[in-house]
Amino acid sequence: MTTDEMLARLPGEQPDFEELQEIIGRELQGKLFARRVGMDEDPFSLSPYPHWECVCTACGKKFEADVKDKLKDMTVCPMCGTKVEPHRWMFRRGGKLTSAFLFYHLFRGAGREIWVRSWRVSQYLSPDGLEMDYVPMSIYHFDDRTAEKWKFGWQGWKPIKTIHMDSWRVSLYSYEYYPAFVGSISRETIQGSCLEYSQLDRAIEYEFPLIEYIGFYLKNPSVEYLWKSHCIPLLEDYFHGSRGDVRRAVNLKAKTFKDLFRGADKREMKIIPQLHAREIIWFHWLYQAGVIRADQDGVDWARARPSFNHDIPDDDEKQLYRYIHRQAERCGRSYTSVLRDYADHLRQIERLGGGELWPHDLDEAHRRLSDRERKIQDQGLNGMFRARRRLWQWAVWRHAGMFIRPIDSVKEITLEGERQDNCVAGYAKRHAEGRTVIFVLRRANDPTKNWHTVELIPGTLTVRQCRGYKNREATPEAQAFVDAWVQRLKNIRDQRRKSA
Ligand SMILES: [Zn+2]
Repeated sequence: MTTDEMLARLPGEQPDFEELQEIIGRELQGKLFARRVGMDEDPFSLSPYPHWECVCTACGKKFEADVKDKLKDMTVCPMCGTKVEPHRWMFRRGGKLTSAFLFYHLFRGAGREIWVRSWRVSQYLSPDGLEMDYVPMSIYHFDDRTAEKWKFGWQGWKPIKTIHMDSWRVSLYSYEYYPAFVGSISRETIQGSCLEYSQLDRAIEYEFPLIEYIGFYLKNPSVEYLWKSHCIPLLEDYFHGSRGDVRRAVNLKAKTFKDLFRGADKREMKIIPQLHAREIIWFHWLYQAGVIRADQDGVDWARARPSFNHDIPDDDEKQLYRYIHRQAERCGRSYTSVLRDYADHLRQIERLGGGELWPHDLDEAHRRLSDRERKIQDQGLNGMFRARRRLWQWAVWRHAGMFIRPIDSVKEITLEGERQDNCVAGYAKRHAEGRTVIFVLRRANDPTKNWHTVELIPGTLTVRQCRGYKNREATPEAQAFVDAWVQRLKNIRDQRRKSA
């Protein structure tokens, strides 16, 4: 349809002010504006007696209140009983915006046609009271297998290819949007129209986007069967971004209910309505492969199984299910958490180059392998720690009742971190690789007790940090020791250079 044809055929329907006011009262936070009249502060008032003049945005009504009432106590509108936010009613040029929203108005055209118009609705507070205003935004035209849209702009109405809901930003640079509401739709409007069997009232009840829903239904009338068989999760998926999964899970071109889920038997059909699209895909596949039964346990497995991101030993789906089922029962945990441990276990076996693929007690095997893996990692680092120790032997120093030495092993750096409650354990790798050197400073008379941890930059022989318990600054005594120590290191290095 051309734009001119559209404008010639468009019925002259306008939104109803009462309905717009009702939406504001129902959907938006009500505000009560009040001003004192007939008093000193208002010398030109025509009112012969002082009182509050009030207006409520929820019902749009104007009323008077006793002058002795306090503004802050006016929290319920006496006209409509709505909870309201009290505000002082002050004059503002151009009026003050109190509510704004997008309004979708659906009405019948000729034959089976349905039209939808969206309007920008705004409610203003003027010196006289509340005023409502609405400005056209879009026009949508629907008929069997037809969906068209026009949008209103600087050059009047223009056709738009993609048929989506509109959005109305609070300001040009804002990511905040005004809310959108759909006006009431009567049975007569829908009866005999292209949307007669669309279950539109339910789609609105589930807050699916009106325009997208209508477009979806007109392209796929089988949607009616999805509602009638209570496949609500599947419909939700479609409108919450998983369209690809929905198309894979269900045959939207179906002409009958049975045809929606091809290859599914009666038992499956009983389970499917409670599932989301991805779950249907997995459930159907696992059920047809004879892995699961059509019962709650099968559903639990179909939900958990996709989280397993590892190849299955021998590619045996049935064995995986039986194995995890047994392990889950043994420790009373969910399929998802046991599957996660099992994937971890298989990765450990790969790293260690061997191990039991289906251990009798997964929990125990997982713990054992983790221990062994840690030891192997420590072994590698420990060799490097030994090399560091030998290299820095010349920096060991005993002086004034204190002594300093390089850290010994991975175990010691871990313990140092734990006992001193600092982050030195995180330096293990850097120390092992020689990018930094970690020393421990102790009192000579209590050599096993942690006291200070010192980080030395090897190239410049400067101390990056010398920290006590819980990362505290060094004590003056320790600081003096470390200063003298650094001077000593530098002297030794200079002498070595001279003699070299
Ligand atoms: Zn009211």
